Amino acid sequence: MTLCTRFAPSPTGLLHLGHAHAALHAWTAARAAGGRFLLRIEDIDTQRCRPAFTVAILRDLAWLGLDWDGEVRVQSEHLAEYQAVLDRLIDRGLAYPCTCTRADIAQAAGAPQGGEGPLYPGTCRNPTTAERAARLALPHAWRLDVARAMAGVPGPLCFNEAGRGRLRCDPARFGDVVLARKGLGASYHLCVTHDDALQGVTLVTRAEDLLPATDLHRLLQALMGWPVPDYAHHGLLADATGRRLAKRDGALSLAALREAGHSPAEVRAMAGWPETPT
Ligand code: GLU
Repeated sequence: MTLCTRFAPSPTGLLHLGHAHAALHAWTAARAAGGRFLLRIEDIDTQRCRPAFTVAILRDLAWLGLDWDGEVRVQSEHLAEYQAVLDRLIDRGLAYPCTCTRADIAQAAGAPQGGEGPLYPGTCRNPTTAERAARLALPHAWRLDVARAMAGVPGPLCFNEAGRGRLRCDPARFGDVVLARKGLGASYHLCVTHDDALQGVTLVTRAEDLLPATDLHRLLQALMGWPVPDYAHHGLLADATGRRLAKRDGALSLAALREAGHSPAEVRAMAGWPETPT
């Protein structure tokens, strides 16, 4: 099977060295194995994403010396596909409409705590027919009924993580996650898992802060009968003081480095990849 990796940035700002580090991980893995490297623009959050940043992403990656295979997939052009996945989960009784606000959730007495903060307390889970109809008439999100979903798939769920072997998943760690936000047809989790399956991605490389989310992605794969890629979560690039690079470090955007006169090879080295792409 041909190795297939992807880089999947969200166009919420200019690419910085941390993105270059991630992109080079995926690109190098694919090219070293004679495989495919895909570029996907994750722009479903129209509040935060800007088309101008998509243009800049393509420009900056090409400048860096990275090429990608096939068409760039732009998620905002495929909302009907994500809606279809959501509809299947709804039809199977695995997702429910939720009208809770953030404040409602924060104030809920005895909200269960997860490793990542308070979990959704389940206020809207198991609605009566009337409650469900009332919530559908209001702005609502769709939440995954994680317990019900897990009861319907053979466990335990696992995935292969580079250098760590087979990891066992705990999809309940996030509680009943949002699959589609109010006014948006889909969430990151649903789209990313759908697209990795659709595009035949066999190795997901991404930053280690997304390792926990993989447990949930594994559940969605099991529910939808999608193939399970291997995963390689890599460390985040830090600056000289050990601080994690973030978008707010505008001076470290690839565009700024280019304008300051740095060559692509220098910037690749700054991003942790001193070898020259060929
Ligand atoms: N779009 C996500 C981000 O920019 C990356 C998702 C992923 O690699 O799975 O953080």
